[in-house]
Amino acid sequence: MNKTIKVVIGIAILCAVAVAGYYGYNAGKEEEVAKNELFAMDTHMVFTVYGENGDEIIADSMDEVVNLENQLSTNIASSQVGKINSEGQGILKKDGAILMEKSILLNKQTDGLFNPAIYPVVEAWGFTKEEYRVPSQSELDALLPITKIQDVNYDKSTGQVTFNKEGMAIDFGAIAKGYTSSKVIKMFKDAGVKSAIINLGGNVQTLGTKPNGEKWRVGIQHPEISDGYLGIIDIEDKAVITSGGYERFFEEGGKKYHHIIDPRTGSPAESGIESATIVADDGTLADGLSTSLFIMGKEKAIKFWRNSDLDFQFILYTKDGKLLVSEGIADDFTSDTAPIEIIKKK
Ligand code: AMP
Ligand code: MG
Repeated sequence: MNKTIKVVIGIAILCAVAVAGYYGYNAGKEEEVAKNELFAMDTHMVFTVYGENGDEIIADSMDEVVNLENQLSTNIASSQVGKINSEGQGILKKDGAILMEKSILLNKQTDGLFNPAIYPVVEAWGFTKEEYRVPSQSELDALLPITKIQDVNYDKSTGQVTFNKEGMAIDFGAIAKGYTSSKVIKMFKDAGVKSAIINLGGNVQTLGTKPNGEKWRVGIQHPEISDGYLGIIDIEDKAVITSGGYERFFEEGGKKYHHIIDPRTGSPAESGIESATIVADDGTLADGLSTSLFIMGKEKAIKFWRNSDLDFQFILYTKDGKLLVSEGIADDFTSDTAPIEIIKKK
């Protein structure tokens, strides 16, 4: 079974447990619940809404997810991004424009580690078409000069994108799901929903609390134990987004190669981190930072968090089996699989 699907099913089971817990606790006063699933953005998505008109509200949000995919996917030739990549220029509108601006900002904030122009390298490794291969260092060295964000010209007023070099391309894959979950949660909120949870391939975002007022319990996938959790985080009104080398990878010559590229080398990041989870109000930020902290590694990630005025918390699982948890969520996170070190702001 595909790993992502396993994660989803695992977390779906957890949510189901949470829901069952609610009914047990609040017997006789059951809140209406609507649930639906969708496969989009290469991801199994589960939507759960409590309260009235849940089915219609979810249906509208699923239409919006498909709309976002049609605008943003690199794999859809007619999408805004697909056209820009094949024609070497084009226009970004609405959501595409927002993601471009957020990506440029994140690139700056992470000293270039978050890089939406890394796509030609991701392609060379075969991750875009699942035709995996290990490119030679000389091939990567030839590609790196066409992955510089400074060579992406973006005109904010018109949405026009042009590239300074031939062969350049952009990809919002590292923030699109977080953006999507934030947008769906906003749609739920605007429709009057007070309690909801969505799960986009293991990335979870919640609205409010469970109907009984308790926090949502979200399991974080264990990178080495399929269907096992690194730990459980209790949240309300938050996105919980994880990047891990275990999510998409191939093996060649006994070595694993995953999909998160260090833009300094053109190869999968080897930072000593197995998975990076970000907890934040803003799903887009959480998604962008989960990819970025994964690449940074432990020391740099901690320093980044300490010096940053961005509002987020993290759970890092290191290759030597330790959990580093930032102090803002330490009381809400439990694990019976690994020792926890709480990281303090100062
Ligand atoms: P995520 O699962 O959110 O960490 O995103 C991983 C995806 O983002 C990959 O499958 C690539 O499409 C893309 N990607 C890989 N490396 C980077 C990077 N350094 N910066 C931005 N996007 C990246
Ligand atoms: Mg990400």
